[in-house]
Amino acid sequence: MNDFTRIHRMLDRQAEQRPDAVAVIDGDGRAVTWAEYATLSHSKANQLAEAGIAAGDRVMIVAENCLEVAVVLMACSRIGAIAVPVNARMSAVELARIQAHADPKLVLYTIGASKEAAAHADAAGAGPELCGCDALYGQRFAAGAAEPLAGTAVLLYTTGTTGDPKGVMLSHGNLIFAARASATLRDLTPADQVYGALPLTHVFGLASMLMASAFAGATVQLAARFSAEALYEALRAGATVVPAVPQMHALLMAYAAEHGHTRLDSARLRYVSSGAAPLDPAWKRKAEAFYGIPLQNGYGMTESTAGVSGTRNAIGDPDTSVGPPLPGVEVRLDTSVGTAEGVGEVQTRGPHVMQGYFRNPQATAQAMTGDGFLRTGDLGRIDDVGRLHIVGRAKELIIRGGFNVYPPEVEAALNDHPAVVQCAVIGRARDGNEDVLAFVQCRGTVTPDELRDFAARTLSAYKRPSRIYIVDVLPAAATGKILKHKLLSHFAGLLS
Ligand code: ATP
Ligand code: MG
Repeated sequence: MNDFTRIHRMLDRQAEQRPDAVAVIDGDGRAVTWAEYATLSHSKANQLAEAGIAAGDRVMIVAENCLEVAVVLMACSRIGAIAVPVNARMSAVELARIQAHADPKLVLYTIGASKEAAAHADAAGAGPELCGCDALYGQRFAAGAAEPLAGTAVLLYTTGTTGDPKGVMLSHGNLIFAARASATLRDLTPADQVYGALPLTHVFGLASMLMASAFAGATVQLAARFSAEALYEALRAGATVVPAVPQMHALLMAYAAEHGHTRLDSARLRYVSSGAAPLDPAWKRKAEAFYGIPLQNGYGMTESTAGVSGTRNAIGDPDTSVGPPLPGVEVRLDTSVGTAEGVGEVQTRGPHVMQGYFRNPQATAQAMTGDGFLRTGDLGRIDDVGRLHIVGRAKELIIRGGFNVYPPEVEAALNDHPAVVQCAVIGRARDGNEDVLAFVQCRGTVTPDELRDFAARTLSAYKRPSRIYIVDVLPAAATGKILKHKLLSHFAGLLS
């Protein structure tokens, strides 16, 4: 089953083998079979070709999760064009910046899926002519000559947690490898129904959810945006696999608790995973009690087509690692970057590593070692059974009075407080030292002093936040990931 050369071949295989099985359930409940999905992607490919889109051209899609995004991805694959899925929840300024960089020949908007996407289409003056369906609007651009990028399937922008989003070129081979790795890790089969709330514009949603389902012939139920209520209902109705980010699990459990449920009642659910951001051990325990099955932790990034490693634990396992490397993936530590005994920068090599950053050879050269390993920018250690542990990001490491403070450890201590919804900890340089600042989103009433006392019970003095700010809402990306590099400017008014 490794003979796919392009991502649409996975779709064609399913259309041949199970034409009438349901491939995609869209946000409005519409069920589309593999045969229909393949036919739609053929006609979309024809339309794109008629509109002058050729191999190597970029087709940007300002998207919320819906069938049309999946169809456009497969259509681009058929004609060798490069799809650039971008989240419609970004601001017009952010979209414009990405558009200028990606230099697409065509921009499509999923106007049927959300009012944000429709508003962007409206503001851009996009119309229906170029797309032949009412759920998409399009707009042509003169620029954007095709480039000789052999085998690039998508251009995917990173979250922008540590700086501006970077355009990552992922090949068909990258996505097919990731699809297989992820389907295998989860034992996905055509009997599965995968709940699809992760944005298809982010690598976890694209690779581990949509592509893995195409590889395995599993049904994916797309949700335009995350709603705890909709996920709860889908679980009750028989969803079997839920890939999510930590915040989604937290919101689901909060929703269930408000409705008097401390445990989920589902006989079909068999696989729940968390990825894209640190999973706090306390949350893991709570989530397992709620789901009644293990919560698996997967680690990866846009540049590694999602999967680097993943756990395969039994319920209640106290494992706080992100698991061993996936088969075919190499991981090593560069301890020269290390900050403590056994800790180093995580580096990874294999068929999952990106082709490079689009139009940025300098950044690509910085990200890769001479022997083909990707420098992840994450600090980790490897335990004696070969499992990888992520301790934080190199860029976010705080050095206070000569001691290392890893933000995820401080965040975990605060998250344990029942009033804390989520929080973010960063360093701020001051008088030749670094302060530890915590921004906390709470429910109910709690004071910074109470939180400080609470954290002091588990954190040594040098790790305790020097300032705790209680805020209404933290700046976040569409996946729910907190945009840490924006915290200082976003809350400039609060800072003393
Ligand atoms: P940018 O590169 O633009 O700053 P980003 O790194 O957040 O943004 P993504 O590619 O979406 O963009 O995220 C990958 C990063 O997320 C990883 O490098 C790592 O820091 C973090 N991450 C992913 N999965 C996990 C996990 N299971 N545990 C801890 N951290 C994780
Ligand atoms: Mg990154």
